[in-house]
Order: sequence, then C-alpha cells, then structure tokens
Amino acid sequence: MARYTDASCRLCRREGDKLFLKGQRCYSSKCSIARRSFAPGQHGQGRKKVSEYGVQLREKQKTKRFYGVLEKQFRLTYERAERLKGKSGDNLLMLLELRMDNVIYRMGFGNSRSEARQLVTHGHFTVNGKKVDIPSITLKAGDVIAVKESSRKSAKFTNLTPARPVPAWLSFNDEALTGSVVQIPSREDVDLDVKETLIVELYSK
Ligand code: SF4
Repeated sequence: MARYTDASCRLCRREGDKLFLKGQRCYSSKCSIARRSFAPGQHGQGRKKVSEYGVQLREKQKTKRFYGVLEKQFRLTYERAERLKGKSGDNLLMLLELRMDNVIYRMGFGNSRSEARQLVTHGHFTVNGKKVDIPSITLKAGDVIAVKESSRKSAKFTNLTPARPVPAWLSFNDEALTGSVVQIPSREDVDLDVKETLIVELYSK
C-alpha cells in the first residue's frame, strides 16, 4: 500500500495553505507555514505567474494531499464520483470524507489523517461488528464504528481526549469508543477551502 513518506510540511508550503498533516504541531508556532510562508525549493520565493492549468493542478494537489491520497487512488475516486448522481466535485469530496481513515480522524482518533490511517491498518477498529483494516474503504450512512474489544485497554484509547469537534454528520461517544455515520456529508460539511470545480475542469480536459 503506497503512501507519501517525504516531509509533510513541504506539501503545505507548496500549496500555500495549512493542510494539517502533523497533528499538534500544526496548531503551534512551530508550523512551517507560519515561519516560511513561501513554496519550498530554490525558486520558491520567485514563482509568480500561474497558468489556468497551474491553478487547476494546485487545487487537485491540495485536495489530494489534504486527504493523504496518492494520484492513482485520487483519480479512481474521481471516476467513481463522476458515475454518481449530482455534481462530480461535490461527490468527490463526499467520497473522500467517507474514507475510513478520514472518518477515524474526524472522530478524534489520531492527531492527523496519517496517524488515523496507521490505527486503521493496525486493525484497531470494527465496522458493524467486523474488523476493518483498510483505510480506503468508503463508509455509508448508518455504519457503526467501534474500537475493537482487545484494543480498548491500549493507552491510545484510554487517554483519548478529542482535540477537535466532531462534525455533525458523524456521532461519537468517547466513553463507549463508538461512533456512527449519521448522514452522508454535504459540501457544506467539508471544511477544506478548495474550489472543486477546478478539479473537475482539470480532469475533463
Ligand atoms: Fe502543514 Fe502542519 Fe507542517 Fe504547519 S505544521 S506546515 S499545517 S503539516
């Protein structure tokens, strides 16, 4: 299972936006965006003019990196979004939000999506009573997520202090360590500052 392993803060600096890839550090004064708010590399401070294609590409890259998804999987998710009813851009964000690793992150397990992803791959969760260790699966409304019985005594879960509010489309009980997908998230539920129509335009070329 491929994943990005290089420096995370470079990605935020490249996109010129906080993508919250490093947990607590992202909320502190150590955040690289706060200290060096220009693109990485030799020409990072010199880039000025961006073409229409460049703008579309950046929106796609930002979204992909925010959810920690690599190109091939992102493209496949977009193709799935296109086949659904409604706007492809909205569907794309909805499918990305419903990924198992994102839902685990949104519920407050893990300080970042990459940590949430690791918790999933280590087999700490069940969905509707069955163990699930694939971070990319798409959950659906009504699915019940729980910490596996044998993992409940782990320090990770006994000391759980959710750092972020759980979005309205999810429910979560931090004492029972269970939660559910209350409803399918709409565009308004997604807090990522992205113009998804640009991604649609890019992939429509
Ligand atoms: Fe991005 Fe977090 Fe690094 Fe700041 S600390 S640049 S938000 S990954």
